[in-house]
Amino acid sequence: MSYLFPTYARWEVQPVKAKGSRLTDQNGDEYLDFTAGIGVTNLGHVPSTVKEEVIDQLNLFWHTSNLFQSKLQEETAKLLVEASGLDLVFFCNSGAEANEAAIKLARKATGRSKIITFLHSFHGRTFAGMAATGQEKVKVGFGPMLETFEYVPFNDIEALKAALDENTAAVMTEIIQGEGGINPATPEFLQSLETLCHENGTLLIIDEIQTGIGRTGKPFAFQHYGLHPDIVSVAKGIASGLPLGAIIGKKELGQAFSPGSHGSTFGGNPVSVRAAKATLEIIFQNDFLNEVERKGAYFQNSLKTKLSDAKVVKSIRGKGLMIGIELTDNAEPFLVQARKEKLLILTAGSHVLRLLPPLTVSDSEIEKAVNILSKVLGS
Ligand SMILES: *Cc1c(COP(=O)(O)O)cnc(C)c1O
Repeated sequence: MSYLFPTYARWEVQPVKAKGSRLTDQNGDEYLDFTAGIGVTNLGHVPSTVKEEVIDQLNLFWHTSNLFQSKLQEETAKLLVEASGLDLVFFCNSGAEANEAAIKLARKATGRSKIITFLHSFHGRTFAGMAATGQEKVKVGFGPMLETFEYVPFNDIEALKAALDENTAAVMTEIIQGEGGINPATPEFLQSLETLCHENGTLLIIDEIQTGIGRTGKPFAFQHYGLHPDIVSVAKGIASGLPLGAIIGKKELGQAFSPGSHGSTFGGNPVSVRAAKATLEIIFQNDFLNEVERKGAYFQNSLKTKLSDAKVVKSIRGKGLMIGIELTDNAEPFLVQARKEKLLILTAGSHVLRLLPPLTVSDSEIEKAVNILSKVLGS
């Protein structure tokens, strides 16, 4: 029996240790981990540089509060600001909290209430995150939902035009829908989206919680398209697995988050932020990001070649090291098969296998994963 609420259909694997792309379970079996904690451990498990910084911080102090000055938060925020082209950072503890902050900030700064999001999006499990998510399955039994959210088909600019009105505070979108099935936004859609938002006095919020922090080969995925969002939310990969989230926003929004307007007891915890600083200093380097782009292209091309005859494969898509394999069948049995072959992967929606290796993955590990996937998918 379990003492835990059964919110997760847990696998039989129980990790006992992990390093880099490798994870060892309770039976001593070793797996190639292409889940990276759902796009979190972007430098691999227990990266040495981050570990040393965290241990050093543990020896100094663990927690004070956000009433104190923090050079560490300032230095880490500077890394996010310089990499994004935005101006101000608010630290919280998770992705859902980052989106909560983004939604609150957009409403207060514009004095409007409506938030437009897209079908098949995913924005988190809190009330605002759930309301923002364009998938009915996450809302079942939790109604009534928070007002006012409106959902528009992804990549449909006419539908977006029809939904935008003078009460629209923000449009919130992912660049590649992660949980929804590795669905990329088209470049034309993103350009029109930004223009329409500007014309309407509506803020553009980009949810980079899964696509950000180097995952697609740029610090943030919106940078592939030359966009200028007003607010960006990040979490997952930001601190190599320690809990941390953040929003990064334009300086004009600063006044809306004045003292007393928003906060978090644990947000920006020194141990997590120390891990974030060490992580970002590595990932935001051009050489590192170029390698992510190269390995991503190599991975996707190898999959396309090896799986070209696999009848169950419908399409292979993604950017950098965020790759989806859409199947004609339910994806879950193939995930289980891959696990038997000692490769850990994820699903995204019912029919897509999702591959999120650590950004430090080697070519030979990619090759190994491709071979396992080609065995499992029958080509
Ligand atoms: C994971 C995720 C979230 C939620 O993050 P949590 O840390 O689980 O709250 C929100 N948006 C996107 C795009 C995500 O991938």
